[in-house]
Parts: sequence; structure tokens; C-alpha cells
Amino acid sequence: MTFTCRNQSCQAQWEQADVIIKNEGQGLLFRCPMCGARNYVERFEADDGTVVYEQIEGRPMT
Ligand SMILES: [Zn+2]
Repeated sequence: MTFTCRNQSCQAQWEQADVIIKNEGQGLLFRCPMCGARNYVERFEADDGTVVYEQIEGRPMT
């Protein structure tokens, strides 16, 4: 699973381990280490407890 920065002039690709996912109050996101753009993600938990994050377009509905 890799993330692609949604900043059109950046589009850097990151592994989940490369970024810090946190909630700044508008949903889970990571800031691109290259350009600082906000990239929103959604958290999924598998039956075995494994947590994965999937990148979403724009920002989540609140
Ligand atoms: Zn970027």
C-alpha cells in the first residue's frame, strides 16, 4: 500500500511507514514530507486487528 501526494505539482509516493498519520480535527490525514500538503486517509481494521489506511479523495465528510 502506497500513498500518492494529492498535490498536483508534487505527487510524491510514500509508504505508510514514511508518513505520520494523525487527526487534526477534520479526520485522519498525513502531511506530505516533501511539500506539506494534507492528504486524507481512512482507517480500516481487519478481523485480525491489523490496521490499514487507505487514501481518500479530498477530505472526509464530517
Ligand atoms: Zn507532496
